[in-house]
Amino acid sequence: MFEFHKPTLFLSNIKGFFLIISSLFLINVKSYSQVPKKIKTIIIDPGHGGSDNGARGEYEGTLGSREKNITLAISMKLVADLRKELPDINIIPTRTTDVYMSVHEKAQFANEHHGDLFVCIHADAVQLKTGSRIVGYKNETYHTTKYVGKGKSRKKVVTKHTRRVPIRHYYKIPTSRKGTSTLILAARQSDDKIKALEDGDLGFNTDDDDSTANINYESPEYKASALLYSQNYFRKSYQLATLVQDQVAQETGRPNLGVWQRRVGLWVLHATQMPAILIETGFVANYDDERYLNSEKGQDEIAEAITQAIVKYKKQVETPKSISGNPVTSDSK
Ligand SMILES: [Zn+2]
Repeated sequence: MFEFHKPTLFLSNIKGFFLIISSLFLINVKSYSQVPKKIKTIIIDPGHGGSDNGARGEYEGTLGSREKNITLAISMKLVADLRKELPDINIIPTRTTDVYMSVHEKAQFANEHHGDLFVCIHADAVQLKTGSRIVGYKNETYHTTKYVGKGKSRKKVVTKHTRRVPIRHYYKIPTSRKGTSTLILAARQSDDKIKALEDGDLGFNTDDDDSTANINYESPEYKASALLYSQNYFRKSYQLATLVQDQVAQETGRPNLGVWQRRVGLWVLHATQMPAILIETGFVANYDDERYLNSEKGQDEIAEAITQAIVKYKKQVETPKSISGNPVTSDSK
């Protein structure tokens, strides 16, 4: 029910745009260099919490785990890893216990703490199909009626029958989909090319997170902040999302489901005024993924991979670059 879009088409646009802009600069400005903003604070958001369970294992054979606990466990490891790797940076989790925070509160929290990066940890949910199997038989009685004779001697005859009927057991079938994907907010709400991709719904049915947000996507306020996001944070969000996807696939050997844009429903990402990504670490409704996500090994690997991606991202964005994309040495300023 949510819409996801491969960012490729849009990105090629953006690239073209920047190519034109940068070549304009190259003509007039020889030694222009961007001064990169240092990353000082990273907000880690364990999805859901408290009364909001997020996805739940409901298929037959499930561990019965809840997304809110998985996201918290991975996030706590991620926070610890990041503090070890980046000791000079503030790593601030939105929650460290099983408490509920609305998406408004989470966004406000990130903004108030002046985050330079917002990383949401989630696990996917999907609508499961129902299966059934015969677990036994029982006798069922039924009656048939017929009439015999004619005229005044016509008689109604009711016969009792017994038949064997199967007893069925119904269950939820686990999804075969597994792997990690990363979501970013679609940059332009009214971009024609993005609209054209609306049919490319992956079928993810992730979070009711945003149901509490009550957003009017057509309001001038929403459009203004979406524009701000697209101008300032989209490219960086995409950059980080790509690094996370590559690193997670490499580190965990699990399927890389790619970076996806969502046009609506990622309110928490666009309300935070900083580059922001939402990582769907795996599927609670997949047999292997559920076990992986609940294991110490799985949680360690995912946290480690995200940490490495963030370290790489930090290096990339903090390395001064000339407008042509070549690194600028410190004495060339
Ligand atoms: Zn979630």
